[in-house]
Amino acid sequence: MNITSSEIVISAVRPAQYPEGDLPEFALAGRSNVGKSSFINKMINRKALARISSKPGKTQTLNFYLLNEAIHFVDVPGYGYAKVSKSEREAWGKMIETYITTREQLRAVLLIVDLRHPPTNDDVMMYNFLKHYEIPCVVIATKADKIPKGKWQKHLKVTKQTLDFDPDDNIVLFSSETGLGKEEAWAVLESMM
Ligand code: GDP
Repeated sequence: MNITSSEIVISAVRPAQYPEGDLPEFALAGRSNVGKSSFINKMINRKALARISSKPGKTQTLNFYLLNEAIHFVDVPGYGYAKVSKSEREAWGKMIETYITTREQLRAVLLIVDLRHPPTNDDVMMYNFLKHYEIPCVVIATKADKIPKGKWQKHLKVTKQTLDFDPDDNIVLFSSETGLGKEEAWAVLESMM
């Protein structure tokens, strides 16, 4: 898939604000600073449409991007940022739960994790949450350029073990630096549309 047009359509907090229509939709989730904005920008051939975050945990809205007039990407605010208060965390949880459990256009959630480290407890919770609601999930293991190629398989194995990964799900090795995994990720998404 080659994305030639992309724009933000709305930053939503409530279902009434979600875009209408039946375009296939993919949500992007991950802990703050994992590389989610970089992933989105790489996938859509933009330098900075999804703002590469300087203040992690700040955006508490669901940002809907329209791609090629045909697909929605939904940028979910990053989790696991220590300085977020309990009430903010709860509001985040409610917003995500409402979105994920009610949005019929949602084809899959892309869970972005850092290939260098085992998934965090928050990553594991998010993955279990998706499994619980039977939401299709694609794991994107990013920052692959930061470890030697010879260690990729070992790190993938740790990622899968830590998540108790369902072999029916897809996992894609990715790098926003080099573009590794971009074609594969698009192929997976196309198969889910
Ligand atoms: P977000 O908070 O999850 O949206 O994370 P960002 O996309 O803002 O990325 C956080 C930091 O990691 C930034 O300094 C990025 O340049 C860097 N980064 C993101 N993805 C990659 C990657 O694939 N490789 C490398 N080397 N750095 C990355």
